[in-house]
Amino acid sequence: MGTKGREIVGLKIDDLIKTLNKAFADEWLAYYQYWLGAKVAKGPMKEAIITELTEHAADELRHADMLANRILQLGGTPLTRPEEWIRQSGCGYDAPDDPFVMELLKQNIKGEQCAIDVYQKIVALTREKDPVTYNIALQILQDEVEHEEDLEALSEDIDLMLKRH
Ligand code: FE
Ligand code: FE
Ligand code: MG
Repeated sequence: MGTKGREIVGLKIDDLIKTLNKAFADEWLAYYQYWLGAKVAKGPMKEAIITELTEHAADELRHADMLANRILQLGGTPLTRPEEWIRQSGCGYDAPDDPFVMELLKQNIKGEQCAIDVYQKIVALTREKDPVTYNIALQILQDEVEHEEDLEALSEDIDLMLKRH
């Protein structure tokens, strides 16, 4: 990033890069969890759930891209090794070992709730201090809120269906 572009960041840039790299690790793990979940899913409303999980996977990969670009712009390096994803991740990874749709939804809802916390914190940290990162974190936060809402709606529909049969 240019000299002036760095100057306007009113935070310790190394700490900010670390925080963004943690979120970057979360996004790769979320991407893979959704991507694989969509492949293995079994159970009621499977088609609708596969569509949703596949869309979310694409969103998480796009979030990883947004974060990588900002990390590079700040003069940092996005994590170069997949083993670092697990080590640095704050939200972790839930393996889709149980392919039942309700279990996949439960795991992914938990992941989204963690992501909402992560981006809420980055938004709070960067507001007033780094408008460029703030804008990126806010866009991602909006997506994560929508992701949680979509998954909870699907989960409710399946619940209702299972209770009525
Ligand atoms: Fe995301
Ligand atoms: Fe998400
Ligand atoms: Mg969605």
